[in-house]
Amino acid sequence: MYHVKESGKNGYQFYTQSMNDKITKKTLIENDLRSAINKGEFFLEYQPKVNIDTKRVYGMEALVRWNHPEIGLIRPDVFIGISEETGQILQLGLWVAKQAIHDTKMLHNEGIMLVVSINVSNKQLNDDSFIDDMCLIADEAGLDKSYIELEITESQIMKDVNKSLSILNALYEKGFKLSVDDFGTGYSSLSYLKKLPAKTIKIDRSFVLDIDKDEDDRSIIAAIVAMAKSLGKDVIAEGSETKEQVCALKLLECNQIQGYYFSKPIKIDKLREFITDFKWDDCSFY
Ligand code: C2E
Ligand code: CA
Ligand code: CA
Repeated sequence: MYHVKESGKNGYQFYTQSMNDKITKKTLIENDLRSAINKGEFFLEYQPKVNIDTKRVYGMEALVRWNHPEIGLIRPDVFIGISEETGQILQLGLWVAKQAIHDTKMLHNEGIMLVVSINVSNKQLNDDSFIDDMCLIADEAGLDKSYIELEITESQIMKDVNKSLSILNALYEKGFKLSVDDFGTGYSSLSYLKKLPAKTIKIDRSFVLDIDKDEDDRSIIAAIVAMAKSLGKDVIAEGSETKEQVCALKLLECNQIQGYYFSKPIKIDKLREFITDFKWDDCSFY
């Protein structure tokens, strides 16, 4: 039924073996999610965020992974959606926030002052206790909220702009940083962007993919960068996989970059090494 609904109303679809497999897997994931937190099956990886002008790693995005005892490693794309449907995202989201903030505080104690970005789903954002929970977690860990950035997708914000604005303003007033994730895919309007208390706009990966080949993608990024700058916001590009892409972004004055070119998401110990060894030799011959 859900599958038919997803592909448009009033339709019908044949029940296939692959759908059967999908449903079995979904049920299994749904059931196992419940106990996975208590069993310690989740862990975080961090992907560094680099500023190519200052040549420094200034932040990291926390990305959750599930080490399932039978299936093995499960990527978030597979279980975040299901956990949103079942409401389990609330508990999982709190676990992610606690772990990420704890790890960041640990780095700060070592003198590594990174900003941590945490992905927040729609259900979490609309949960009445979300703001208080986040404040409590930050205060208990002793981490200044200006080092905690919450990433919220543009399409999520656009679902109910006024409600989102009031929640985001409340978070901003508490001192959290905010970032609009997957920017360029969510049909936002300029008037709402102006009101949004987000400091950062994260350009969606789809625009970066062909940036060194596609003139249109370059124009879109140039427009986003110009708009963000005139609104006093920072811009980061995600999904940069090659030096050509990084240097094309630099030419467009997008100096904050996240992507496989610099590093895949890695465990916290590897991130420490990454920061120590990090070198960026610029785009001089491009
Ligand atoms: P996202 O927030 O857009 O995160 C970026 C995704 O792009 C990550 O996938 C990351 O590994 C991947 N990525 C980074 N650089 C590159 C690159 O250069 N090339 C390519 N092809 N991919 C790159 P991941 O870790 O599988 O996460 C997928 C999505 O799951 C995330 O997309 C986010 O929406 C969601 N997610 C992950 N962790 C959490 C979480 O703790 N809470 C919530 N609510 N959602 C999460
Ligand atoms: Ca994100
Ligand atoms: Ca994204």
